Amino acid sequence: MYRRSSEGWVEVICGPMFSGKSEELIKRVTRSKIARLPVQVFKPQLDNRYADAEVVSHSQFRVDAQPVETSTDMLRAVNSDTRVIGVDEGQFFDEGLVEVVDNLAATGKQVIVAGLDTDYLRRPFEPIPSMCDRAEYVTKMLAVCHRCGGPALYTQRIVRSDDLVVLGATDAYEARCRMCYDPTEPEQPDLGLDEI
Ligand code: ADP
Ligand code: MG
Ligand code: ZN
Repeated sequence: MYRRSSEGWVEVICGPMFSGKSEELIKRVTRSKIARLPVQVFKPQLDNRYADAEVVSHSQFRVDAQPVETSTDMLRAVNSDTRVIGVDEGQFFDEGLVEVVDNLAATGKQVIVAGLDTDYLRRPFEPIPSMCDRAEYVTKMLAVCHRCGGPALYTQRIVRSDDLVVLGATDAYEARCRMCYDPTEPEQPDLGLDEI
């Protein structure tokens, strides 16, 4: 794909947990590093499941990353000579991430954002869906359904909690396909949503 060097753009990598979003992000930024492009990777401060200053995939691929609390903090931390910016767990950022990423692309940077597009109740998980609207390239990843092996597009929470964010991996979540996702499991809170 041919690009003028002064041009920036946005890539979104979305999908459920275990679908390989972090792995794909790590692959793309690592290739940029091999090409000797100045790269910075950011992650939200709240996610310290595996390591503090790294993005680590479930498959143990890793890359150095700077934890930041807000999208504004991230913008402040971007160096002017940086060409490629990676952001993991984009769904844990505030909604200001959309404008920040848009502006960074407008100043000529390649911005790659990975994150969940839906939450454990299959609702849109902002700011990722809005981010897709501003992205030149959107890659939707699928996981392997933990129950049947089919194509999984949803994240099933398998522990009971009403909180939107419960950090964890295989102990708290499973990837599920359309057929195996169960909105009543393990008894999810009643949010007054009509089931279709
Ligand atoms: P994500 O960031 O989307 O949660 P990761 O990139 O961290 O995903 O991890 C992807 C890796 O997780 C896969 O390459 C595979 O090794 C492992 N994995 C574990 N469970 C599954 C699953 N159900 N479907 C696909 N990959 C899985
Ligand atoms: Mg991930
Ligand atoms: Zn299934």
